[in-house]
Amino acid sequence: MALHKGPEKHEARTVSVNPFFGEANPVGGMTEAPPTHRLPDAPLPPSTAYQLVHDELMLDGNSRLNLATFVTTWMEPQAGVLMAECRDKNMIDKDEYPRTAELERRCVAMLADLWNAPDPSTAVGCSTTGSSEACMLAGMALKRRWAKRNADRYPGTRPNLVMGVNVQVCWEKFCNFWEVDARLVPMEGDRFHLDPQAAVALCDENTIGVVGILGSTFDGSYEPIAELCGALDGLQEVTGLDVPVHVDAASGGMVAPFLDEDLVWDFRLPRVASINTSGHKYGLVYPGVGWALWRDREALPEELVFRVNYLGGDMPTFALNFSRPGAQVVAQYYTFLRLGREGYRAVQQSTRDVATSLAGKIEALGDFRLLTRGDELPVFALTTAEGVTAYDVFDVSRRLRESGWLVPAYTFPAHREDLSVLRVVCRNGFSHDLADLFVADLTRLLPELRRQPRPLTHDKGAATSFHH
Ligand SMILES: *Cc1c(COP(=O)(O)O)cnc(C)c1O
Repeated sequence: MALHKGPEKHEARTVSVNPFFGEANPVGGMTEAPPTHRLPDAPLPPSTAYQLVHDELMLDGNSRLNLATFVTTWMEPQAGVLMAECRDKNMIDKDEYPRTAELERRCVAMLADLWNAPDPSTAVGCSTTGSSEACMLAGMALKRRWAKRNADRYPGTRPNLVMGVNVQVCWEKFCNFWEVDARLVPMEGDRFHLDPQAAVALCDENTIGVVGILGSTFDGSYEPIAELCGALDGLQEVTGLDVPVHVDAASGGMVAPFLDEDLVWDFRLPRVASINTSGHKYGLVYPGVGWALWRDREALPEELVFRVNYLGGDMPTFALNFSRPGAQVVAQYYTFLRLGREGYRAVQQSTRDVATSLAGKIEALGDFRLLTRGDELPVFALTTAEGVTAYDVFDVSRRLRESGWLVPAYTFPAHREDLSVLRVVCRNGFSHDLADLFVADLTRLLPELRRQPRPLTHDKGAATSFHH
């Protein structure tokens, strides 16, 4: 969310409002649009206010053509109805809305089972606004556990968190907000995510944990979580340091359990203390829900959990927010119930099929080199092939916008700042048909791009205005 500033100077806007917009208003209040940067003096009729806001929002992009976002852009109408029915329910009022609270509890239990918690009855977890909040909570638990183990040295020593340079920005926020040093494993050559040995080399007695990502925001690849845990086992044998792992499974937590059942990345690994996922990514719910789970009560220090009695009852909660809509949690439960394991498998498989087939078709055009193929997360990154000098990925991103497609272009972090990529995120609702239209649009652009004298997008940031 941008940190917004007020208007530079007082606006003088005199756009007139079409009389069709408003109810008949003989006193003439309807010829000028209301101010947009201070509260209007008087109310508007609801139909007029609706039309003004609605029309302005038409200029937003079409979310279904947004191949930049991981977040769900299509749900069934029934889910929409349920969400509308629950929009007045505050998730925090667990005592007033005990059934909503119960659905949240069931979702946590289902996820604990899905992620193979050794004893789902002692796993603990909560819903959040998204993975960012879930990661803050998980990071806080790691930090508090470390501080308790090192009470003789803390405060006084600064803790650190080890992770790949490809982490999502929420981990940089965590380190900044909670005063933890971020120790980042850089990319090297064609390795675009964490290397277990390099991560272990960064660990010391002040390491609160290591974050492994399933899968990387930058290219959709899964980090090697089991190998990471194995390397940390080795570290413990040699040094005695017992460093826990948090798995940031924002996307993969709802993909791998259905499509990669043999991949061991979750609570089956004893070193994995906690896991998060975004219900609103491959959990298939509209934005506003994430999940954080800890393998057992020891992994979540009790003193971080708050109990308030002023809503009635005495429900323990762990959250950064207080009030929050209940609708997304209800929608998550609906989707779990509606799809079940088989349904999720079918949906995620078809999304992966679209991703891998689209990646193959783009590769066949000859102008691009794939860095990933959409066979882990249904997400792939590509760059221009060697020998392509007339245009770059920023040109492709900018030109694709002309056909409505939002495909971000960006540079990779250390040590591959030299590499610029496009990333395509396939989601439920991005069908084979839409993918074919995308290829057709890209194919149509190529002759023009190839005729360019050189890459033409000067303001690379503005070309995509993209942030992870
Ligand atoms: C999207 C993402 C996040 C942040 O999740 P939100 O639900 O958008 O807050 C964190 N980590 C990874 C790996 C992600 O892909």
